[in-house]
Amino acid sequence: MKKQTFKYICETCGSTYAIEEDRMLCSQCRDENLEGKPLRGILKVKLPDAFRLSVRKHASFDVFDYLPVERKFFPLLPVGNTPFVKAVNIERDLGFKNIVLKFDGTNPTGSLKDRASYLVSAFAKKHRIASIVVASTGNAASSMAGVAASAGQQAIIFMPSTAPKAKLVQCLQYGATVIPIDGDYDAAFDLSLKFSERTGYLNRNTGYNPLTIEGKKTVSFEIVAQAGSNGVDYVFLPVGDGVILSGVIKGFLDLQFIGAMKQIPKIIGVQAKGSSFFHSAFYQNKFDLSYRADTTADSISVNVARNGYTAVADLKRVNGDVVLADDKEILDAQKYISQLSGIFCEPSSAASFAGFLKMKERIPRGKRIVILLTGHGLKDVDNAMKSLSFPDACEPDIEKVMKSIGPTH
Ligand SMILES: *Cc1c(COP(=O)(O)O)cnc(C)c1O
Repeated sequence: MKKQTFKYICETCGSTYAIEEDRMLCSQCRDENLEGKPLRGILKVKLPDAFRLSVRKHASFDVFDYLPVERKFFPLLPVGNTPFVKAVNIERDLGFKNIVLKFDGTNPTGSLKDRASYLVSAFAKKHRIASIVVASTGNAASSMAGVAASAGQQAIIFMPSTAPKAKLVQCLQYGATVIPIDGDYDAAFDLSLKFSERTGYLNRNTGYNPLTIEGKKTVSFEIVAQAGSNGVDYVFLPVGDGVILSGVIKGFLDLQFIGAMKQIPKIIGVQAKGSSFFHSAFYQNKFDLSYRADTTADSISVNVARNGYTAVADLKRVNGDVVLADDKEILDAQKYISQLSGIFCEPSSAASFAGFLKMKERIPRGKRIVILLTGHGLKDVDNAMKSLSFPDACEPDIEKVMKSIGPTH
């Protein structure tokens, strides 16, 4: 089917737009003053009408057919197809029968952000745009840097100077142009918009560029391919700006539209207690613009969820829910997952699991649960260190080793 039948749609007012380089927000609904606010007028990709119920149940589908850029424009770096791991030790420990960890930390740059960067890079290639700008607390930046390097494009990164070192190292290693900002993510976000306006470079900011939600939907396509069309009851995922949330929901809705899925699983967004802007908006229908985040889970630490309005509407539409986990619960969950599954994810990802632990008494034991682990733990070793105790050095003497280890049988 022809790719040009994909369009952008504003779900607030129903306006549709052609998918073009300089089209980011809905002209009718966009807020004149973007600074420090959730974005109004976020666009989503609308699948061509001809796709409706085009895939019969159990038929296989190729996610590239449902993306608005042809496969030939995508970089060669392999993004997605991440592990879907049955967590048998965790099931046994908690008394559940079916818990699966979907580990997106195995993406090339170590996070789910690669799914969005991959599509944005392909779009830029198709439109012969050589430079891509992004503001990020770290993962979107390192992701864009790596994917752009693979595609031979330039990445220009606006990053708070406080971002974890490993993420900065990744950006520089991939050869991106990095502009560390003496300010928070929100300051970097707004500055990057001004910069792309002046230069005409493509902006990949999360939420703002509609292809970020679209790229992230691919994780839902994989979950359905891996679990079966009606194989999941609950999906837990972390929420920062809410783009993963909207992407995952968009993926399931698209799958329903094409006829590959009937019932959308219960979606549970998890936020850090110290970054609960989205949680309060969901329950109080009100955005507190003076909110200041404070959590150790840096990838979900945002003052203003840029995709806030859209994500709240999306989550309500599918009857989902939001829970909070504090930093200690998140770090404990991070360690627990590692020790019972062999997966080392970063704190923001462990938040998904911490949210599941908080809700588990309300979930029947036989339910099929997918926990989305969005990023690799090695990206933020400093935080992981907080929940570890380091053993003292031992003399190189076998008797001393035996003594320090304690009974071995
Ligand atoms: C960006 C990110 C999140 C949060 O995603 P949003 O789309 O901002 O809600 C969670 N985990 C990791 C590892 C991330 O990089």
